Amino acid sequence: MNFKKSEKLYKKGLINLVGSVNSPVRAFASVGGNPLFIKKAKGSTITDVDGNKYVDFVLSYGPMILGHRHKKVQKAITKALKNGYSFGASTEAEIKLAKIVCDAFPGMDKVRFVNSGTEAVLSGIRLARAFTGKDKIIKFSGCYHGHQDALLVAAGSGLATLSLPGSKGVPEGAVKNTLIANYNDLESVKAHFDAHDDIAGVILEPVAGNMGVVTPQNNFLKELKEFLVSKGALLIVDEVMTGFRSKFGGAQELFEVEADITCLGKVIGGGFPVGAYGARNEIMEMVAPLGGMYQAGTLSGNPIAMAAGIATLSELKKQNPYDKFNEVAAILEVILLEKAKKYGVDLVVNRFGSMINPFFTNKEITNFADAQTSDTKKFSVFFWEMIKNGVFIPPSQFEAWFLSSALTDKDIEKTTKAIDLAMEKVSQIS
Ligand SMILES: *Cc1c(COP(=O)(O)O)cnc(C)c1O
Repeated sequence: MNFKKSEKLYKKGLINLVGSVNSPVRAFASVGGNPLFIKKAKGSTITDVDGNKYVDFVLSYGPMILGHRHKKVQKAITKALKNGYSFGASTEAEIKLAKIVCDAFPGMDKVRFVNSGTEAVLSGIRLARAFTGKDKIIKFSGCYHGHQDALLVAAGSGLATLSLPGSKGVPEGAVKNTLIANYNDLESVKAHFDAHDDIAGVILEPVAGNMGVVTPQNNFLKELKEFLVSKGALLIVDEVMTGFRSKFGGAQELFEVEADITCLGKVIGGGFPVGAYGARNEIMEMVAPLGGMYQAGTLSGNPIAMAAGIATLSELKKQNPYDKFNEVAAILEVILLEKAKKYGVDLVVNRFGSMINPFFTNKEITNFADAQTSDTKKFSVFFWEMIKNGVFIPPSQFEAWFLSSALTDKDIEKTTKAIDLAMEKVSQIS
């Protein structure tokens, strides 16, 4: 396997693109080496510009849940393209997708489509503030909610507790209303409510996927919701990653918790740039043109993206692959743990539905601090060995691997072999 064309394009891209990528997660910064350039993908397989084929567990960081270029989605897009690309006016497709989304989330009477997960969350936060008339938002350390200023607070504990910005260019004022709590730790939320009386709500990933996969323990979500109800504060559930992925109705369906405001993205666009936020009528009526909270978008509800979303969600509903995802993830977990044991590598595997994550540590992972005990050097070695053996996983210890319904038994076999070789390599460095 060689990466000559990827290397060449990477160097060429450095001239006019920042780091030759349009999103830093693609840069391979934490695993070393140059990023792969992709030529095409079909089903469970992705092919780079050098012609190397990989089983794809990145899936565009989640959206491609049916695998790449599912024929029903392709057909829907092709049909939509014939009518035009963007109108600056409403189309019937928006109503159709809105109904599918609202039916899936019982707490959602109305939805507004936007163009990314970031936009969905920043609008959801604005809405929580508009509805409650309060400014402060609690977020959990290690949860990612897109790159809006207010939530781009360092996920590391020292900076986080001080609410210092985690990114240059974020003014102190932008994060002064952001409070940080510990995932799976309701007491850390209560402490903020004891200290402040102007908290609009709490935002979280119902299953965290951006510190690696970290699941809510016991009744964390239910108890959090009950507590917030008692305080008159809102629960904002960021299901950009988990929506239609954990379950058709997202993590909320699984944990039987209803968000006040739900944010969506990734899967709902079927690979096109779509995000959404929604809530019950009383809350959504705050949004312009019905109410005084302004939020807009020239390309929002784009007809091609809506067609992809409708086709993806309809097919997903029909396939109902969620039990199968659990089975496949369980198989992968066993393989990862067996191979780690075979070569004496410390490994913890967290998984939830179609999201799975091996951590190179021996510590149970229930929050960001736990996740940070992982040996990222071992992960880098593991990552490259997986790539060299034809398995594309995210180039970071802290990103989830995603499953698609296009995965085959052959893919799992190939992945098993790669894991064996990768664990052996990891054992040699430790
Ligand atoms: C990916 C992600 C976002 C941001 O979505 P973008 O489309 O990248 O802007 C927000 N929240 C969560 C939980 C995510 O996984």
